[in-house]
Amino acid sequence: MGIALSTPERVAPVAARLPTITTVCSHSSLQIFHGARVEGFRSLGICAGAPPKYYDAFPLGRPDSFLSVPSLQEVASQTQKLKDATAVVVPHGSFVEYVGPERFAELDVPVFGNRAVIAWESDREKEREWLDSAGVQMPRRFATPADVDGPAIVKYYGAKGGKGFFLAKNREALDGFQPSGPHVIQEYVLGTRYYLHFFYSPLSTDGYRVGSGSLELLGMDRRDEANIDELYKLGAHEELLRAGIRPTFVVTGNVPVVMRESLLPQVFDVGARIIEKSIELFGGMVGPFCVEGIMTEDLVFKVFEISTRIVAGTNVYVHGSPYSDLVAPDLSMGRRIALELKRGRAEGRLQEILS
Ligand code: AMP
Repeated sequence: MGIALSTPERVAPVAARLPTITTVCSHSSLQIFHGARVEGFRSLGICAGAPPKYYDAFPLGRPDSFLSVPSLQEVASQTQKLKDATAVVVPHGSFVEYVGPERFAELDVPVFGNRAVIAWESDREKEREWLDSAGVQMPRRFATPADVDGPAIVKYYGAKGGKGFFLAKNREALDGFQPSGPHVIQEYVLGTRYYLHFFYSPLSTDGYRVGSGSLELLGMDRRDEANIDELYKLGAHEELLRAGIRPTFVVTGNVPVVMRESLLPQVFDVGARIIEKSIELFGGMVGPFCVEGIMTEDLVFKVFEISTRIVAGTNVYVHGSPYSDLVAPDLSMGRRIALELKRGRAEGRLQEILS
């Protein structure tokens, strides 16, 4: 038996009555609702104001019902309605951002996964401590501009979509650099970006064993980032800066990718280390998570970020990916979540996957 994340009181209603898979209508919600439907769960979409009209265009991804709130920050005040619906909240990236990390942490309804992970993900220092102590390779950090010895990226804390990030070709490019807020200076890693979609199941008894459960790789994507990804079409970086165009990394979409098969041992090693350390630090990360990094020409994967929930890149695989197809047919991340919930109920182990 694994680590208990939730209390018996919190899981009791969900164990007694088929839960309603609930999330905020955005990000990866169509896929989450679709997965819920395929596995026979009811679903509930939380939205600010009227239900989004685009849902009408996707009948198989539309939730069974909606809970309209004046603003998403007020979700916590709807606890009774969520409890009446036997809601299990599936957090996605936008969910936590819209609701707010503190309010999310205190939400008095069962949440899929370990909500304690938020504290480790939302603070860049703690995140680094976790990944570093797990033995995962990360971009080097420079204490001051004077320490920079190659290309560097200045990242501001909490910057959405890399807004305001500063790219420097070398140390000289940072001469006279005036940061506009709390930041880190990192090695700018040259290579190819991969966003790895993992799922950790504490309930599984077969597959790639990590801790007392199993690690699954269900897909990979690359993010389309505006305007950096297309800058080269206009010319060199300096020239663009002279023209007043600053590179930004706002995510606008995702594309599917696969990695050389010979690199998969490294991919699983990174995922396993992160899980093992999470078990030690805060009782473990459960369900979907995404490891975001850059494969260098020396074939070293350097991790610059981790998302501890379902990422929107999984939306490219509503009917499975070249990896999940080798786990089970038609397996989206949304459906994988529903399957875990089903198994947790059947085996009386919901307290290990809900918090
Ligand atoms: P982040 O806010 O850390 O997710 O970074 C946003 C984007 O900046 C990433 O998706 C990458 O394209 C880029 N990036 C972040 N860190 C690095 C790094 N150390 N080297 C190269 N590119 C990076």
